[in-house]
Amino acid sequence: MAILVCGGAGYIGSHVNKFLNRKGYETVVFDNLVYGHREAVKWGTFVKGDLSSEEDIESVFQQHEIDAVFHFAAYAYVGESVEQPEKYYYNNVANTLNLLKVMRKYGCAKIIFSSTCATYGEPEAVPITEEQRQDPINPYGASKLMVERIFRDYARAYGLRFAALRYFNAAGADPEGEIGESHRPETHLIPLALDAAAGRRKDFKVFGTDYETPDGSCVRDYIHVMDLAKAHYLALEYLKRQGKSGFFNLGNERGTSVIEVIQAVKNVTGKEFAVAYEDRRSGDPAILVGGCGKAKRVLGWEPVYPEIEQIVAHAWNWSQNAQF
Ligand code: UDP
Repeated sequence: MAILVCGGAGYIGSHVNKFLNRKGYETVVFDNLVYGHREAVKWGTFVKGDLSSEEDIESVFQQHEIDAVFHFAAYAYVGESVEQPEKYYYNNVANTLNLLKVMRKYGCAKIIFSSTCATYGEPEAVPITEEQRQDPINPYGASKLMVERIFRDYARAYGLRFAALRYFNAAGADPEGEIGESHRPETHLIPLALDAAAGRRKDFKVFGTDYETPDGSCVRDYIHVMDLAKAHYLALEYLKRQGKSGFFNLGNERGTSVIEVIQAVKNVTGKEFAVAYEDRRSGDPAILVGGCGKAKRVLGWEPVYPEIEQIVAHAWNWSQNAQF
């Protein structure tokens, strides 16, 4: 039996693929390589295909006995989702329906899904727990929430078993340096700050200094990508022992401001770089910190790399020798 990793050439999917292989699972990575990197798939079998094509999906299920699916294949640029919602709803929602349809046809009932704290929108309270109201403020978050809803309905009607993992800010890289974060275009804080430290960009821009936070910059909960990978593996084990389908926040339950991240980048790299203070970026809530007790209690998860310096150090190590 194999595990299908849709979107396994992307940042989080590739780390989960490595983790699953290290745990002895056979994986099939399915990716259209629009944003993913072929070089990031160093473990398992690679299949180039697109979730918009039922035939592409079906050919994987014909050739491999798939026990469970990990689903990372989605577009994830918030700003772009506001400009081009159609692209997001087709890719993130409609294509997931194709995947679920083929899974049902082949009797595959387990799925682990890449959801997001963006499904909450402006939080009612911090830390954010799973029971909080979900009211996304952009099409990206809405597309992920729609998929969560679809899972709920498919679970009731068709016996789908799912774990939807709501990530806070995924960060860092494989501690062994084999894979890491590489987005084109890059919009994320830590890779951009590391580029500034390495002299690849002239400065780093802080988006907003007038938030109601201790230093005025946004506060986020950064979670190491390998800790995310571990949670995915634990979610699979949980579903395999007949655990109840559900939603799990994944974060470190601690807030770090943009200015604190910049300081961590300077400490880790030993490099100085220019910091420009800009206006707010639209759609950014002031504070997002996860309450992650459920994942700890139910899945037995505990982050191994909670320190921001450690997260930045792994990302720095990767960015200096990045292979893609
Ligand atoms: N951010 C910033 N400058 C940048 C990129 C990001 O100040 O060049 C801020 C952004 O406003 C947010 C935090 O860093 O508060 C994390 O942003 P990122 O894009 O990494 O992740 P997101 O929170 O959007 O998922």
